[in-house]
Amino acid sequence: MSNALIKGETGEWEIVIGLEVHAQCLSQSKLFSGASAVFGAAPNEHVSTVDAGFPGMLPVINGHCVSQAVKTGLGLNAKINLHSVFERKNYFYPDLPQGYQISQYQHPIVGEGEIEIDLPDGSTKVIGIERLHLEQDAGKSLHDQHPQKSFVDLNRSGNPLMEIVSKPDMRSADEAAAYVTKLRTILRYLGTCDGNMDEGSMRCDVNVSVRKPGDELGTRCEIKNVNSVRFVHQAIEHEARRQVEVIEGGGEIKQETRLFDTKSGTTRSMRSKEDAHDYRYFPDPDLLPLVLEQSFVDAINDNLPELPDAKKKRFIGDLGLTPYDAGVLVAEKERAYFYEFAVKGRDGKLVANWLLTELWGALNKAEKTLSESPVSAEQLGGLVGLISDNTISGRIAKDVFAEMFATGKDAAVIVDEKGLKQVTDTGAIEKVIDEVLAANPDKVAEYKGGKDKLFGFFVGQVMKQSGGKANPGIVNELLKKKL
Ligand code: ADP
Ligand code: MG
Repeated sequence: MSNALIKGETGEWEIVIGLEVHAQCLSQSKLFSGASAVFGAAPNEHVSTVDAGFPGMLPVINGHCVSQAVKTGLGLNAKINLHSVFERKNYFYPDLPQGYQISQYQHPIVGEGEIEIDLPDGSTKVIGIERLHLEQDAGKSLHDQHPQKSFVDLNRSGNPLMEIVSKPDMRSADEAAAYVTKLRTILRYLGTCDGNMDEGSMRCDVNVSVRKPGDELGTRCEIKNVNSVRFVHQAIEHEARRQVEVIEGGGEIKQETRLFDTKSGTTRSMRSKEDAHDYRYFPDPDLLPLVLEQSFVDAINDNLPELPDAKKKRFIGDLGLTPYDAGVLVAEKERAYFYEFAVKGRDGKLVANWLLTELWGALNKAEKTLSESPVSAEQLGGLVGLISDNTISGRIAKDVFAEMFATGKDAAVIVDEKGLKQVTDTGAIEKVIDEVLAANPDKVAEYKGGKDKLFGFFVGQVMKQSGGKANPGIVNELLKKKL
């Protein structure tokens, strides 16, 4: 259970959350023009007449963005609408030279769907998706470049956005954080959005209300443009408490747009919320309705990659992983792919262990990411292969791994160079055992007198004498015989 009730003076309150996520479509060019949609150019370098809202300009839909929206819809198990309509959402803002944003309203390209979120306690919950629609991004006002003037950068104007609207199904900050995290993972698997929240390619509007459990939905406030998972969590915690205090103090929640102040961790009022009719939506006469063939949708569906939930099930079912390990592995696309490459022909659990403990630990210590790993997936698989076929023991493997991490060499090369092959020759092991027993006649007598615990001592001595290279199974077997 992750329902987090708030204790107020008048009893317990339930938090209700719905999220609108703006995800920038991965695309070379903008939604209705050929200008570049790539992040990071100098101001106003990527602007066409369409993006600058010149009179008489004509928008032309970018087919790739349509594919990306459909792909995302399919990845969210959502209904794809073969008929959708672009409308003008009219408002004035200096960074919006057209005086309206081309968006979708009554007929979005994607309808209802769902996402399964993974909660901190290991449980899952299904969150409904209301819709996904395509729309243009606005430009950006720059207020910090000149003491008296503001500037506008239109590079972002016309960038392709997918707005993904959830149902008000979340009941805690944890659930909302899990939703954003999972949505980002799915978008990255699909390759439809890079999910980089710090570059603004994924931004959240967080709708929060509170109510007494069982009551009707309360009035919501919308916190705009929250740009990290941690801030989503903080903003909800703060906003829900604020609303409870207002209501319990005899006040009323006004539907409004609020801003999250990342420094203080609080929200403050920005403006009262417009209703949809304030925007005077109407179908954009410059654009025909968007009509898709079912075969177009089917072709995208046939090429969807395996998504994290399916991958997790397969890792558990086919490779014997624990739900926890499988969950950690699929949480990042690169991690999952690394694992899959390493595990080819190897023991699933052993590879997962080596990846999640040894490699993970070494990377953290070296402050490196998986993509910078000096040990490749193939090399990690090679090391595990040597353990599985008894060429080296798990103990020696740790030393080999450290050497691999330091030098980038293959495990087999290191084992050869350093003569670390496990000794499975019974004659050689027998010789070591005889030496150990001869050197410890008193302990042998004690053991024979009933002190069973000493068996471990003998094993330890034999392993030590063999430099850790004796096969532990054979050592055990031979020792039992000899004693
Ligand atoms: P708008 O654009 O006016 O914000 P949308 O329909 O695009 O409206 O989005 C509304 C969002 O608010 C959805 O994510 C929805 O789940 C959420 N929501 C609606 N009612 C409530 C409520 N009472 N409490 C919290 N969230 C709500
Ligand atoms: Mg909204």
